[in-house]
Amino acid sequence: MSLSDIRGIGMTSQRTRDRLVKRLAERGIDDERVLEVMGQVPRHIFVDEALAHRAYEDSALPVGHSQTISQPFIVALMTQLLLQKRPKKVLEVGTGTGYQTAVLAALVEQVFTVERIEALLLKARERLGLLGANNVRLRLGDGYVGWRNEAPFDGILVTAAPPSVPEALTEQLAVGGRMVLPVGGEGVQELRIIDRTVEGLVTETVEYVRFVPLLKGVQPFEAT
Ligand code: SAH
Repeated sequence: MSLSDIRGIGMTSQRTRDRLVKRLAERGIDDERVLEVMGQVPRHIFVDEALAHRAYEDSALPVGHSQTISQPFIVALMTQLLLQKRPKKVLEVGTGTGYQTAVLAALVEQVFTVERIEALLLKARERLGLLGANNVRLRLGDGYVGWRNEAPFDGILVTAAPPSVPEALTEQLAVGGRMVLPVGGEGVQELRIIDRTVEGLVTETVEYVRFVPLLKGVQPFEAT
């Protein structure tokens, strides 16, 4: 997709994006910066053309490889919770399509994002490049181990659910930092906030959510 395509579709999709933002606000998203950015990032370029007409519905959509692009409300909620700690350097685990990455990139200084499926990572890199998101570094890897040589992070956002909180990730969270992640087995999981304070970790459960599982190991492009 070329840049002029994005602009063309971008104009016709502005109205549907505005409707989505209105809906997010009605559902309780009140961080103006998050609403503004979600009104700008063209979600339709992050899904297959066949699904582009559904890109501004508030629902998760399939993106191949048994994965989904997260529901806009959940993207907005997780981003809003993360921003409450004013992070500068953020680690995202589970790049997927790169949509959540693009939202983060518009709101914080630096985004480091890890994806275990190389085919998805390559597409996400291309889309983020088209959008000019030059404050993002992407890497093929297993998010269970985080991104050790860039730690600590002020914010960590995990977009797939581990059965329990990965220790490497809490270790890579800076004092004053916050991690937002779903935790639990298949089916329904708890969306948790974990803050690292000088006294230690403080955990809070926000609500129940449904994410794909956080899996171990990587899936190189050749093997798909
Ligand atoms: N934020 C993404 C959500 C994608 S779904 C979006 O809006 O598009 C979650 C993603 O996490 C999938 O792409 C999946 O492959 C990835 N994932 C699962 N386990 C992982 C792991 N251990 N390390 C890195 N990525 C992982």
